Amino acid sequence: MMSPPVLAVRGASMVYPGGVTALDDVSLTVAQGELLGIVGPSGSGKSTLLNIMGTLDRPTSGTVEIGGQDVAQLSDRRLSALRGHQLGFVFQQFHLTDGLTAAENVATGLLYAGVRRGRRRPLALEALNRVGLARRARHLPHQLSGGERQRVAIARALVNRPVLVLADEPTGALDTANGVAVLDLLTTLNREGTTIAVITHDRDIANQLPRRVEVRDGRILSDTHIDSSADARTEARTESWS
Ligand code: ADP
Repeated sequence: MMSPPVLAVRGASMVYPGGVTALDDVSLTVAQGELLGIVGPSGSGKSTLLNIMGTLDRPTSGTVEIGGQDVAQLSDRRLSALRGHQLGFVFQQFHLTDGLTAAENVATGLLYAGVRRGRRRPLALEALNRVGLARRARHLPHQLSGGERQRVAIARALVNRPVLVLADEPTGALDTANGVAVLDLLTTLNREGTTIAVITHDRDIANQLPRRVEVRDGRILSDTHIDSSADARTEARTESWS
């Protein structure tokens, strides 16, 4: 039997109190090993989509499945356990804790995963090594550049070996050079097997990713896979837009 997709959003809508329809009947499947960009202008519904993909919010209607499990069936406790074990989050503003070293910040990614105290530091160092920051383990966030801080945040997202990493504008607070470095890192991690969804309003970034999902006015406008191995492009327009 084929294993279920890492993530499946089916017919999801989100209507916020006050009546704003931020998502309108969106369906999206992410298979293991993908690197996709969710792209669209400000206000198009990207963050709302990321929040429901990350089980941080429940859609008004429709379903979200992680590894074939409908998350609406889970209690809050089981849902946070699933989030802690299966998902990793990267945010525009890094969200590191000031008084903690890089290694300690990364180790916080293990707090909800039931990893013994003695195991946390070696796993954190291993994750820092994966993002090329082994030598910065004892640095505090203010001793690191913006690009390095984001790499620490990426290590924290990875430390638990999640099935899916969700990154919300991960280059949005960085200058061009650091933004490119972070994107290169995400690409490398993907080649090593990590499944990653990146939200961005930056078309240049989205254009470099193997799959691009374009969101507009709460709907998916297009879902484009670029088959780099065959150097061919397959476009699947999901909707005619008139
Ligand atoms: P994006 O991430 O693409 O900028 P969002 O998902 O943040 O888009 O927003 C989509 C729409 O939903 C916007 O019109 C926004 O104003 C609205 N919205 C987002 N969050 C809320 C909220 N908590 N309450 C009410 N409206 C919201």
